[in-house]
Amino acid sequence: MASTRPSPPAAAAPPSAFEYAPAPESRAVVDLRPSYGLFVNGEFVDGHGKGFKTISPATEEVLAEIAEADEADVDTAVRAARRAHTRVWSRMPGRERAKYLYRIARIIQERSRELAVLESLDNGKPIKESRDVDIPTVAAHFFYYAGWADKLEHSGYGTESVGVAGQVIPWNFPMLMLAWKIAPALACGNTVVLKPAETTPLTALLFAEICQQADLPPGVVNIVTGAGATGRALVTHPDVDKVAFTGSTAVGREIARSVAGSDKRVTLELGGKAANVVFDDAPVDQAVEGIVNGIFFNQGHVCCAGSRLLVQESVYDDLLERLKRRMSTLRVGDPLDKNTDVGAINSGEQLTRIRELSEVGDAEGAERWEIACDLPTKGFWFPPTIFTGVSQAHRIAREEIFGPVLSVLTFRTPAEAVEKANNTPYGLSAGVWTDKGSRILWMADRLRAGVVWANTFNKFDPTSPFGGYKESGYGREGGRHGLEGYLR
Ligand code: NAD
Ligand code: MN
Repeated sequence: MASTRPSPPAAAAPPSAFEYAPAPESRAVVDLRPSYGLFVNGEFVDGHGKGFKTISPATEEVLAEIAEADEADVDTAVRAARRAHTRVWSRMPGRERAKYLYRIARIIQERSRELAVLESLDNGKPIKESRDVDIPTVAAHFFYYAGWADKLEHSGYGTESVGVAGQVIPWNFPMLMLAWKIAPALACGNTVVLKPAETTPLTALLFAEICQQADLPPGVVNIVTGAGATGRALVTHPDVDKVAFTGSTAVGREIARSVAGSDKRVTLELGGKAANVVFDDAPVDQAVEGIVNGIFFNQGHVCCAGSRLLVQESVYDDLLERLKRRMSTLRVGDPLDKNTDVGAINSGEQLTRIRELSEVGDAEGAERWEIACDLPTKGFWFPPTIFTGVSQAHRIAREEIFGPVLSVLTFRTPAEAVEKANNTPYGLSAGVWTDKGSRILWMADRLRAGVVWANTFNKFDPTSPFGGYKESGYGREGGRHGLEGYLR
């Protein structure tokens, strides 16, 4: 009954009548060192590669010099992990391993402000998100898997660890992806060599310090920094028993090919192009919040982002007007400002990719609308944007943009919504907005996606398995299911 709803003011109206004063979070809590080594066998050591710099994407300021692990360094780390696995960690009773994991979880809570500020500095995400979402969820993951360590006989997947895990993670949720990888691996008695993304290594290195602080036995966690070559050296190392990767489909495919024929176990969490489906009976204001959260949370650098909005035709005009009005209130800018909603794009490369795909959208005939906002002159920025008039064949409806860009499509019937939502090579997540419980279940049955959110979006919980169908990858992380990849 869209016609009975009061119309919101026109989208072009100026945002709000009042402005917010700057509310910057202090950087002083972070003790940045000029340079960082690799973390191998419980110590920081030099790398043999030529090293690289990590910058703040909001200002392009160099934050630190980072060591680069070459093949020999990766080999040293894998050996350390092997020794720690054979001699210490796999033999330790689960209840003892749990104590270390609980200790790590508590230190993460104690140092949460430091971790959040460092994450926002290195990644560009708003402090509001790193402080209230990323880091609390990281701690929750360690607490959750600590609880499993002495209960593996109830897991349904056995109790024996797999061995050494080689783990490669992306830059969009640096600490959270580390937690998703390391917590279940350690709980099950595996040791790990983890490679953070080259644009966001700092929180993983702070985590290495936390391992020292927790007195974790040397070699149980090793952190090797570097780019694609370091990642390749790790996942192809012959003494790695299990590979866990989150990142692009292209690299995921390469990894799957490179381990084919070996007895390595692999889990891949790749991209997505999630449909966020809004029916005409949806609670419209909540749906608008969910759409905004779905695509503008973390600048849209989210594999499960609701990047394709499917709106039922009868409510299209009203919904779009409300969405544009809500978007106009988003504050884009300094990630360390507590009022910031949308921070910096993680890298110049990613910004180029977002710009290019958006230009493809223009060329394909979709209509671009972006919020009016002053973007900082330094750093990497892209305004929250929507494309309307998008058809299923458009590249911006098929490819992952991985930025704050929403493609809007319409549908008439539930069957058409399902067909359009599933018309993608991906299958990581989906959203459904409707007043009818029966319709939620009907949709959830038919959507080919690992996670289906109903009347909410981007909800993460350590107890809930997460993972994809089709080109979104295979294997599950989180929950009891997340133990499977780490047990024999
Ligand atoms: P990427 O896949 O290249 O990088 C992810 C991680 O893999 C990084 O740590 C990287 O150093 C490492 N890596 C790169 N090449 C490797 C190789 N050959 N072997 C082993 N490890 C390797 O992702 P990207 O270039 O940072 O982003 C490209 C696109 O991927 C994005 O635009 C986005 O669409 C998608 N992406 C998806 C996710 C996700 O969570 N699913 C995360 C990041 C990026
Ligand atoms: Mn950085």
